Amino acid sequence: MDSEVDVIIVGAGLAGLGAATQLRRAGKSVLVLEASDRVGGRCKPGEIAGRRIDHGGQWIGAAHHRYRAAAKERGIELAPQFGDGDAMLHRSGKAKSYSSVLPPLPKVALAEAALAQRRIASDVKNLPEGALPHLASRAAMLDALTVEGWLRRNVRSVPARELLRAAIAAIVCAPLAGVSYLHFLEIVRQSGGFDSMIAVEGGAQQDVVVGGAWSLPEAVGEELSGELRLEQPVRKIVQDDAGVSVYTDAAEFRARWAIVAVPPPLVAEIEFSPALPARRRSLLRRQLMGEVIKVHVAYETPFWRNGGLSGSALGLGLSVGVVFDPGQGEGAHEGAGVLVALIEAEHATRLTDMAAEDRREEVVGDLVAIFGEAAAEPVDYTECVWSEEEWARGGYAAYLVPGAITAHDASLAEPHGRVHWAGTEIAREFTGYFEGALESGARAAAEIIHPGSTTEPERS
Ligand SMILES: Cc1cc2nc3c(=O)[nH]c(=O)nc-3n(C[C@H](O)[C@H](O)[C@H](O)COP(=O)(O)OP(=O)(O)OC[C@H]3O[C@@H](n4cnc5c(N)ncnc54)[C@H](O)[C@@H]3O)c2cc1C
Repeated sequence: MDSEVDVIIVGAGLAGLGAATQLRRAGKSVLVLEASDRVGGRCKPGEIAGRRIDHGGQWIGAAHHRYRAAAKERGIELAPQFGDGDAMLHRSGKAKSYSSVLPPLPKVALAEAALAQRRIASDVKNLPEGALPHLASRAAMLDALTVEGWLRRNVRSVPARELLRAAIAAIVCAPLAGVSYLHFLEIVRQSGGFDSMIAVEGGAQQDVVVGGAWSLPEAVGEELSGELRLEQPVRKIVQDDAGVSVYTDAAEFRARWAIVAVPPPLVAEIEFSPALPARRRSLLRRQLMGEVIKVHVAYETPFWRNGGLSGSALGLGLSVGVVFDPGQGEGAHEGAGVLVALIEAEHATRLTDMAAEDRREEVVGDLVAIFGEAAAEPVDYTECVWSEEEWARGGYAAYLVPGAITAHDASLAEPHGRVHWAGTEIAREFTGYFEGALESGARAAAEIIHPGSTTEPERS
């Protein structure tokens, strides 16, 4: 055995790092075991045209106070998402610019989309406050329904459905015919409402991090230094009355407790002794990772800005779903211009199977369809195909298939003896976001620091 500490944390994403920070502050000794060669998990740095970018999570929402507080503490600055100028909508082979909040679709379609949003808000309001979604009235019915089934039942206008499909796919990154409507409602409830999830100012896309979102896990990783081991994939966790033994390929580590903070498909690959309860194993089989490809494309200049455009775009029917200009603070727009594009759900699946050159051609072709010929000649291109990432298997997060929530009927956070759970998928607030990862890590740490306590987790 290599080491003995109070708590071993499996996974150095924001959930695991957040848990480690809280535990250290409470005087507990920790060891973080991370499978890959870097910290951050789905918060991953990249570079284009000499500028640091985020291959994974990027935006910090107006209400994401945990990330904000942790960043502030470490001198990491946030800047508003760039939005000066008109946005673009591409639909049925045509691109149109618009300056209002609403895209240029027929009035009837916009009215129907607004009505559907009110219905979703009303279904969210009926979820039990502070309780698990399986306790909702009509839970079985809502959980048997898919998001696509709900849209077909409630939205008749084709453009309204297309708009809502695009907006929801941008949240769950999954084929809507496979996502439980109850699960979708719970995500919306946790995140302050559908409108806020799709909004920039005042919503989930309000700010970006100067220097990239990875600056936070990078800083926390440095604080941990000796308490962090990279390239140590955990394969097995055995527990007895006194503690846990955690096995990697190279070593065995011992602690009093463990916190497992890895995405659901990777939890399913760890061997537990005693085994996880059957209902938990069953649930793990029904938590599927979303599919997303995130692409950055650099141009000699931010030509869209010169044409009075913000670089924001919505592509209905294109592979590229949403586009932004990911400027990060003052001066970020000098020199090369960069666009970030997200390819989600079925489009991501199809493009994942393509050769990299063909994928690039399709993405650039979509940007030309939106912004015109000026987008045809990028000077640099970089991408991350999240389903191919060995230690994530997809993104933004896992979603639940119909029937899973009501079949499980317990908290995903329920500890397995000395093994506690963290990760954005089991957050009680802002699941799917960095914020959810930090909340889940703080909650798992609090379970160990104050056994049996019901106090709200502290800020990470
Ligand atoms: C393309 C993309 C865009 C996104 N955009 C945003 C955004 O704009 N804003 C936002 O808030 N969120 C965004 N998200 C979601 C956000 O990135 C995640 O919710 C969050 O990073 C998840 O953190 P986590 O700690 O729960 O899991 P992870 O970040 O997945 O961390 C898990 C860690 O566990 C490690 N691991 C896995 N298996 C093992 C094992 N067996 N042993 C040891 N270690 C293991 C992994 O390597 C990883 O480091 C996005 C995600 C993606 C992919």
